[in-house]
Amino acid sequence: MTTFYRITLCAFILFVSLAGFSQANPKHPSEAATTVVVDATHAPQKILHSRLQIPVTSGELTLVYPEWIPGEHGPTGPIVDMTGLEFFANGQRITWRRDLKDMFTFHLTVPPGVTTLEARLDLVLPAPPEGFSSGASATERMDVVSWNQLVLYKPERPTDHINFSASLKLPDGWHYGTALPVENENNGQINFKTVSLTELVDSPVITGRHFRHIPLTPEGPIQHFIEIASDSDAALQMPPETVDEYKHLIAETGALYGARHYRDYHFLLSLSDHVAHFGLEHHESSDDRVGERTMIDDDDRWLAAGLLPHEMTHSWNGKYRRPAGLATPDYQQPMEGDLLWVYEGLTQYLGYILTARSGLWTKQQFLDEAAETAAALDHIPGRSWRPLQDTADAAQILYNALPEFGNWRRGVDFYPEGFLIWLDVDTAIRQKTNGQKSMNDFCHIFHGGQNTPPMVKPYNFDEVVNTLNQVVPNDWRKFLRDRLDTYGPGAPLGGITNGGWKLVYDENPSELTKVLERARQVVDARFSIGLALNDKGEIHDVIMNSVAWNAGIAPGMVLVAVNGRKFTPDILREALKAGKGNGPNLDLLVLNGDFYKSHALNYHDGEKYAHLVRDESKPDILSDIIKPLAGAAAGRN
Ligand SMILES: [Zn+2]
Repeated sequence: MTTFYRITLCAFILFVSLAGFSQANPKHPSEAATTVVVDATHAPQKILHSRLQIPVTSGELTLVYPEWIPGEHGPTGPIVDMTGLEFFANGQRITWRRDLKDMFTFHLTVPPGVTTLEARLDLVLPAPPEGFSSGASATERMDVVSWNQLVLYKPERPTDHINFSASLKLPDGWHYGTALPVENENNGQINFKTVSLTELVDSPVITGRHFRHIPLTPEGPIQHFIEIASDSDAALQMPPETVDEYKHLIAETGALYGARHYRDYHFLLSLSDHVAHFGLEHHESSDDRVGERTMIDDDDRWLAAGLLPHEMTHSWNGKYRRPAGLATPDYQQPMEGDLLWVYEGLTQYLGYILTARSGLWTKQQFLDEAAETAAALDHIPGRSWRPLQDTADAAQILYNALPEFGNWRRGVDFYPEGFLIWLDVDTAIRQKTNGQKSMNDFCHIFHGGQNTPPMVKPYNFDEVVNTLNQVVPNDWRKFLRDRLDTYGPGAPLGGITNGGWKLVYDENPSELTKVLERARQVVDARFSIGLALNDKGEIHDVIMNSVAWNAGIAPGMVLVAVNGRKFTPDILREALKAGKGNGPNLDLLVLNGDFYKSHALNYHDGEKYAHLVRDESKPDILSDIIKPLAGAAAGRN
């Protein structure tokens, strides 16, 4: 019954969205918009002030603070940082009481004759750069304003039917970028057009003193921009070749999907070491946050190259097409993550191939990423108890899981394993049709159609299966369920082998492994002795049943010495080399809390790093998949 209700409601939202994107509910024709004025002039002091004027009638009133944040797939609204809450009616203060069972809900009584309630609240911005949009967002020089953190609303109807008129005050000299349409600017205050609460929350604002606005498609017809805020002017200087690659990305998304579902598109790119690092998708923009020097450092730019293609893909796969369980009518109803292997997993796949097709990755960089993904997932013993489906079902708790015991617990594996599963689907389609059809055809049917403004078309598992059958008939239901419900033992590598490549291990780290080790100050000994640690010896994970695990080593311990000598990454690597074949056992001295213990590892296979190598007995489908599709660019590699 819940499902039926939700689908019916979503179909209704779809109709209204098509009609007007934020049309007032005819049952309340006279209700005015809520106004919200956000004062961000104190953002460097890590506090935002919000003042709302909410249309009300007298009597009991319930207001809610957004809890389930779209794209974050969990109850991540930063309720604990919502402070300074006060209500006023006709200048008189009104008391409130929080709901005892729902921390995001507030009850108050509106006096007779009052039609507008003023609400004041502050958002304090936590300093640690952790979490998604509830993590650190403001620095001395920049901020990202997420409207869901600054509003209250009446939970009486879908957020598509609640109108908001927002305004924003910025520190002197700060610039801004957003997909939210602007009405006008007055005395340093930006007044935005009245929109639905859905559109407001979907349209964050990036702002800062060091700012760059890069038009990617000035020739039109649809405009695309990168809007960058940074902690320095130097960091804004993305190389011109990179700007060209992002232009290719726009062309490649057009070729892949065949239609766009936004009026214009804005990458809101934060470059700072003091904000949380993540990407959050929206219909007409994405909130993309990386380290300050990412765009001017070759290694960092490589490691971050997949971010913008991933987040932009969500405009089609996640926003326009959304699993029914994630297409909730407001921000209070819990979300259901069972189809996140499509929402995130297919986005991971399409994001990777778009990164390669755009030139943001070379072919070898794509192969290195695919090898790393495949090898990492092939060393996840946790799949013996938790099938991939449960990583999606449990996403709302797994996003916050610690890395320790990640290989046994499993994390949000529907991202990387989604890449493998959809690669498997793509190669299967290409094999069955002799290369005539591919996932490109699926995307045209599922995500394309006509250009439209933002709208939501919910889907379920059956529609995914039926669309695949439209591309080429097959038992896709069984194909997918076999990969979603399996207990292993290994990762689904069919896409790699059918794509004409093999996953192999040798003693030479790939360029990607070297860059990752350097950039993240880690040592990757997962595929040899089963250890993932940092360059201080702190052990993040030990693969269950690996040589290190069987010797008694666990996550959270610290590797102090190797064969009697103080640990450094080089000392460990050299000891692995020296122990190969007939060499000595490996003796690891480990600190567990206050206790030292020596562990002997009977290991003689040397270092092991993952690579993809060509299987000449099969056609090279993988290379075909990453060839550019778009017009003139199709001749590029
Ligand atoms: Zn995503």
